[in-house]
Amino acid sequence: RLRDAATPIVIVGHVDHGKSTLIGRLLHDTGSLQDGKLAQIVESSRKRGLAVEWSFLLDSLQIERDQGVTVDSTRIPFRMDGREFVIVDAPGHRQFLRNMITGAADAEAAVLVVDALEGAQEQTRRHAMLLRLIGISHVIVLMNKVDLLGYDQEKVAAAEASVRALLGQLEIPVDAVVPASAREGDNIAERSPNMPWYRGPTLTEALADVPAPSSRSNLAFRMPVQDVYRFDDVRFVAGRVERGQIKVGDTVVIGAHRTMARVAEIGAWHAPVQAAAIAGQSTALRLEPDVIPDRGDLLHTPDAPPLRAARIRTRLFWLRQEPLRVGESFTLRLATAEHQVTVASIDAVVDMDDLTERPAQEVPPEGIAEITLAASEAILFDPFSPGSSDGRGVLVDRLQRIVGGAPLIGPAELAPGERSIH
Ligand code: GDP
Repeated sequence: RLRDAATPIVIVGHVDHGKSTLIGRLLHDTGSLQDGKLAQIVESSRKRGLAVEWSFLLDSLQIERDQGVTVDSTRIPFRMDGREFVIVDAPGHRQFLRNMITGAADAEAAVLVVDALEGAQEQTRRHAMLLRLIGISHVIVLMNKVDLLGYDQEKVAAAEASVRALLGQLEIPVDAVVPASAREGDNIAERSPNMPWYRGPTLTEALADVPAPSSRSNLAFRMPVQDVYRFDDVRFVAGRVERGQIKVGDTVVIGAHRTMARVAEIGAWHAPVQAAAIAGQSTALRLEPDVIPDRGDLLHTPDAPPLRAARIRTRLFWLRQEPLRVGESFTLRLATAEHQVTVASIDAVVDMDDLTERPAQEVPPEGIAEITLAASEAILFDPFSPGSSDGRGVLVDRLQRIVGGAPLIGPAELAPGERSIH
């Protein structure tokens, strides 16, 4: 059986509601802490005259990160029941926004941490809205600090009802609402003896129900080309299987060229030879005939090709402090591809207060909108869908700064008088 790739999750919520504490607790209670880490936390807590302060763990990871010790800075792995997860950590609100939007956090699930005593706050609401707009398909609410409510069933139920009302209003489906104490460890990885009345899942049980990346293996195959490596006289096409799976002997289409090739070998470069590669895995393919795709090209199956369009309707999460106007040009990054695009029209702007759409001439600073992007050549893409990397475009300016998240919705109608270039 092929090993599954780690499931990326994000932990969001209002400041001080307990995100860092939860991360420390999760790592500890799932046995994912490196040797010596716990002792280090206990010691630094003791020095400050405190009981074990779980959030110090994150601080200590943060220090390593600043010193460049941790290789992959924003990803904290943990394991449970033989399955791997990775917490995509995005310290600070702006960084969080950017990470969420760029798909650096192509998160499968989000844990929304809410202080049960304080209830939903400003950032709870904003983060929840972002989860919806970005299309995270699994949201688990952690009602944290229920120890402060004395684990009282009625008080917890009241806190839960108000958070459910908010999320219902924002039309965010919730997988589970888990009453918990990150600090005390109640209902995180172990069922709390303090809440015998609670029948729902613990946090780790709720996470175990989130589909693994390999669940996308039964969709049509897609692999954006990252690079082509040459060894003596053989070439390997490297990339991550975003969905579907590929076996030796399968036929693939090299998107931009529309040429077909057969998979002759899989993963023979710095990794053992495999018979197949599944969604979520990074791999390398040797193709016959020995065609040479470019970085950014998309490999797909002949029977279920992606869409091809030069004008694309796009949802825009605008990050710049200045407004966006029609006619501005950017680079659209889509997986490993880069396309030059121009904003052809601004079709609607989302009112952040009530999430309604209305027409507008420009996208306000940090606004959300629907726009049409025009490219000089056809772009291969799959429409954005939650919980996948499909259509997760990012707009980049000339200075290589990320200026917006741009999930692609679908091909746009041509404007009157305009001719298709294909
Ligand atoms: P963050 O800003 O969301 O990362 O919040 P922290 O994890 O730093 O927690 C903020 C404060 O809340 C810290 O003093 C924690 O010790 C405290 N805290 C976190 N979880 C709990 C909990 O379950 N119960 C109680 N009583 N305090 C908690």
